[in-house]
Amino acid sequence: MKEDTIAAVSTPLGEGGIGIVRISGPESVEIGEKVFRHTGGKHVREFATHTLHLGKVIDTDTGQVVDEVLLTVMKGPRTFTGEDIVEINCHGGAAPLMRTLEVVLGNGARLAEPGEFSKRAFLNGKIDLAQAEAIIDVIRAKTDHGLKAAVENLEGSLSKEINKVRSVLSSVLGRVEVNIDFPGEDPTAELKTEELDALLAESARSIKRLLSGAKRGKILREGIKAVIVGKPNVGKSSLLNALLKEKRAIVTEVPGTTRDVIEEMLNVGGIPIRIMDTAGIHEAKDEVEKMGVARSRELLGQADIVLVILDASTGLEDEDLQILNALADRPKIVVINKKDLNANAEGSFNEMGETISVSAKTGEGLNLLEEKIRAMVLAEQPRGEGALITRVRHEDALKHALGHLEEGRKGCRQGMPLDIISIDIREAWTGLGEITGETASEEILDRVFSEFCIGK
Ligand code: GDP
Repeated sequence: MKEDTIAAVSTPLGEGGIGIVRISGPESVEIGEKVFRHTGGKHVREFATHTLHLGKVIDTDTGQVVDEVLLTVMKGPRTFTGEDIVEINCHGGAAPLMRTLEVVLGNGARLAEPGEFSKRAFLNGKIDLAQAEAIIDVIRAKTDHGLKAAVENLEGSLSKEINKVRSVLSSVLGRVEVNIDFPGEDPTAELKTEELDALLAESARSIKRLLSGAKRGKILREGIKAVIVGKPNVGKSSLLNALLKEKRAIVTEVPGTTRDVIEEMLNVGGIPIRIMDTAGIHEAKDEVEKMGVARSRELLGQADIVLVILDASTGLEDEDLQILNALADRPKIVVINKKDLNANAEGSFNEMGETISVSAKTGEGLNLLEEKIRAMVLAEQPRGEGALITRVRHEDALKHALGHLEEGRKGCRQGMPLDIISIDIREAWTGLGEITGETASEEILDRVFSEFCIGK
């Protein structure tokens, strides 16, 4: 089937220096020809590939000039989608971009669906599925570490490792099949179960290595949730603000922020931390307060880490003890705030175990607190080797493959027939292929590309 030509605004719709309307497909150049008037009087179809030209976009119905633009022609297959691409750099405002897009759509293009450019890149073999997902991760990266991991996956580091294991498995499958179809015919091709077991063990080890860094990868990509609790006036809001002043993460909008909970993104040593200041978990006096307290408890349940704030100026009080008791079995850091008011406060909190003294007012101790958060979050997370697994989808596929390899090995040890063992090997091979997309179903593809927005 001949693909149609799609178009969309590929930059955010806001005010900016430039905004881009992207057109991809067999009619791209012809559509460019219709809507663009070159300043030097040339035709778009005469432009050399991968060159940029000044001119105007014309409303083909009225002849009016829509915007002064730069037009890029990129002929396939050396393009992002593998198809002919024309990009029109308009001025970056909603009006010029939307009008230009309308003119393009009126001349033969169809509005692209979310992620459709990337999907075409995948279908045309320009990127694999893991790389397509890495595009989203690059766009959404919240810290330098997250960006680095995403860019590595975009360059194909994960795919390379997956393909290595898959190629071992497919050669094993080939040998197994020879042994099933022509048993004993060629002694050099004979596959003993010990050898088969060893080959499967090697693949299982590679998968385990990748999985060992999965939690860390997920933390770098998605960050963790931290909740600040403490009695009223210990300085929860002040502390959050003090941390935000230096450490506000690149992305600060967090969906689902509610009125009774302040939620912000921090970048603590490369880890995105979604930090929430709650209403507290004290005994509530009225209905409104009760709701706030209930919500706080719910948040605490979801938190990866809890920062319990104490007040150096008041010392340890009953209310503090209540809070600490309620959090007895939670991963937490006990922070003594208002160090500036009582620099020797640690003594009065002796029985607390390890504490960190800070002052939200002077900023003292904040670095120590950040170090402690980072150490706690990453302590049990091994670095892993090779590519970083950042997505649950990849983790699930790896676990699925690993499970079948273990089954296959068990079969080897139990002396099962080769054709039974080969079913597990094939399952593992297929499972790994879902990561790169080689064996991914339409359903998986749809799910992956639905994460994209229009224009990508
Ligand atoms: P919250 O109710 O826990 O959110 O507490 P706030 O952040 O509103 O702080 C309560 C009061 O303590 C405010 O008057 C702050 O200015 C003050 N405060 C907070 N942190 C410090 C600190 O480190 N040192 C001093 N001296 N005052 C602080």
